[in-house]
Amino acid sequence: MKKTMLFVLSALALTSTATAASVRDTICQDGVFNAGVKSDSAPFGFIDENGTQVGFDVDIVKEITKDLTAYCKKPVRLVMKTVTGSNRIPFVQNGTVDLAAATATITYARLDVVDFSNPYFVDGVRMLVPTGSEVKALRDLNGKAVGTVQGTTGENIVKTQAKTAKVTSFQQYTDAFTALQQGRIQAIVTDSTILLGLKVGAPDPKKWSVVGPFLSQEPYGLIMKQSDSPWRNFVNESLSRMASDGTYRKITSKWFGSASKYDLPGLKTTMTVPAVFPVRR
Ligand code: GLU
Repeated sequence: MKKTMLFVLSALALTSTATAASVRDTICQDGVFNAGVKSDSAPFGFIDENGTQVGFDVDIVKEITKDLTAYCKKPVRLVMKTVTGSNRIPFVQNGTVDLAAATATITYARLDVVDFSNPYFVDGVRMLVPTGSEVKALRDLNGKAVGTVQGTTGENIVKTQAKTAKVTSFQQYTDAFTALQQGRIQAIVTDSTILLGLKVGAPDPKKWSVVGPFLSQEPYGLIMKQSDSPWRNFVNESLSRMASDGTYRKITSKWFGSASKYDLPGLKTTMTVPAVFPVRR
């Protein structure tokens, strides 16, 4: 009886070590950190004029890489892979990426299938329209052709709250913006900062306006596999480190400060997120 018990216990121990390898430890072992970032969502993840992957989310994953290098006591190489609104969650679930830093709102529906870091940015959904458009509120979209991106909270808002809008869900924001520029749609619905990024990147930014009240609150979190506390805690502690040593402030003012073309005064009031980060060791 005792022997059987011991056998069962050691078998259990073996199974749990076999299934419990944290992403954190696999990264240390391989020396590679695969991070999913956007390439169509300036200023969070986009390709700049030199063809380089840059943005707020990119800077966040670069900082996490520094903390991984220190923790693993060996150089950890950051490999960035492009993700979209519709594949960022599957890519985390199937291990294509260790984490996605991809303008992802923490929602309870998503928490059913993945975990998130603590919130590291807050935005809200608004609308991008041609300047002078009669569209000023969500209800004005009824009966009109509207663009959004597949798998996003904006898609959900417009489909449920402007029931007679003719919604096209694109794969990329850049495709949605091309459709708006060509007059195939009359508005794009998504987070205001992404809309601002599209406007600012246009040949004539004055032709486009971000309008209407905030239609939601969108707290962004870094997406990770479910039930991997060592990895999730590591990432949260890295965010806390950035908040406490001034790095987070440096990154936010680089991308959203008054010297940045993405400056959005309305956002500043919501940028107190790091104040609620857990404290460092
Ligand atoms: N934050 C929103 C979301 O997670 C929209 C922005 C995006 O396309 O990532 O769905």
